[in-house]
Amino acid sequence: MVEVHVGDVVRMRKPHACGGSEWVVTRVGADIGIRCLTCGRRVMLPRSRFEKRVKTVLGQGDVVK
Ligand SMILES: [Zn+2]
Repeated sequence: MVEVHVGDVVRMRKPHACGGSEWVVTRVGADIGIRCLTCGRRVMLPRSRFEKRVKTVLGQGDVVK
């Protein structure tokens, strides 16, 4: 079980299509909402898939919301 909170920055195992691999968590629930920090694209993932894809939870960063 990966513990994440809204505002946490996470690093994914596979880079996004834009080349970025860091995302900010925008929503936590049955689905996890994340936004790519490089291109700003928003994605919703079922928690089970999110947990398989996430590599590191970097915690709350100085992220521009
Ligand atoms: Zn991206």
